[in-house]
Amino acid sequence: MSSQVPGKRPEKRHDTLWFSDGNVVLSAVEESTGDAIVFRIHKSSLAKQSKVFESMFKLPQGKNTDGGVVEAYGGLKLPLVRVPDAAEDVEALLEALYDPLPLFQKPLFSDTPLRLRRALHMASKYLMDDLRLKLIRIVEYEWPNDLDNMEEKDRIMDDIIDRHEGFFAVTHWPAHFIPEPAAAIALAEDFDIPTILPFAYYDLLRCSPGSNWDEDFDKEIEDAMFRFKVTKMGGKSARWDTLSANSLLKTLQLQEYIERQYNTQFQMFRTRIYQCRRPPSECQKTWLDLLKKFGELPGSVQGRDIIRTLRDLDFELTGAEPLGLVCTVCRIVYSSHIYEARTNVWNGVENICSAR
Ligand SMILES: [Zn+2]
Repeated sequence: MSSQVPGKRPEKRHDTLWFSDGNVVLSAVEESTGDAIVFRIHKSSLAKQSKVFESMFKLPQGKNTDGGVVEAYGGLKLPLVRVPDAAEDVEALLEALYDPLPLFQKPLFSDTPLRLRRALHMASKYLMDDLRLKLIRIVEYEWPNDLDNMEEKDRIMDDIIDRHEGFFAVTHWPAHFIPEPAAAIALAEDFDIPTILPFAYYDLLRCSPGSNWDEDFDKEIEDAMFRFKVTKMGGKSARWDTLSANSLLKTLQLQEYIERQYNTQFQMFRTRIYQCRRPPSECQKTWLDLLKKFGELPGSVQGRDIIRTLRDLDFELTGAEPLGLVCTVCRIVYSSHIYEARTNVWNGVENICSAR
């Protein structure tokens, strides 16, 4: 099934991306083997998505374009376009166009950013805006769309941790939880997907630099019983090696920022004591006791989840009310302070993440 080009290695037809009614042949060299792979496809599938391909297909044979060379393909008398891209990249692009469904599947090893990278690279290079946006949506769907949504996912995990003696242990990462963050950050930084960055970086702060996602996933399950283990002090693994130096620096800046916020926000709470009508000792004392309990900086760096700390503080404050320790007015006032602190902390996270 190969056609001989004089003086060159035989070209291999792609197994699936060779349509009998295709009207153009693309040729590209495979990165892994050095073989030329040919794809017989429909001009319209690429031309309607990309002005670059549209103009490439309009060129008379023999013309050398910026993108590739147009020739005639063997006995089929079809135009042949040699593209400078790796055959693996061309394959990923064509699969995204002809059969995108597999890209939407959420695998249990949380590798969507890795699977999308080649197609996204090609869609960006050939200015295929529509396809690019669709691929970006696939990534975005896996991530929280706002802080409330992130906290919902975190709360579910916290409940499991509470019910299972302090840890969450699984053999496969559940697709409805926050995905592996490092590869997502690398993709988002390379292809401009700012929406997921605050959530991905925040989650990365809770990950353990000593745990590698793919190594954890490769563990034999007979020995381990579980591959991933998370406590309220963090411990999730990540694909740390995919991060750029700039992303690692941003992670350190965020770490420092969160550490400072424990001091800043709890100092703010202490200086804004509400004077309600009850004897001053009751509401004030409870509130100050709560601030003492929650305001301490956790010793473990990955346990410094200030959004969770604020959530727990608010929960305890609300829980204190039936005991008559904090009156309804104080609860509302202090809850609003907590909400304000949460918003301020998150604004800071977003600012650091969006910085170039
Ligand atoms: Zn009160």
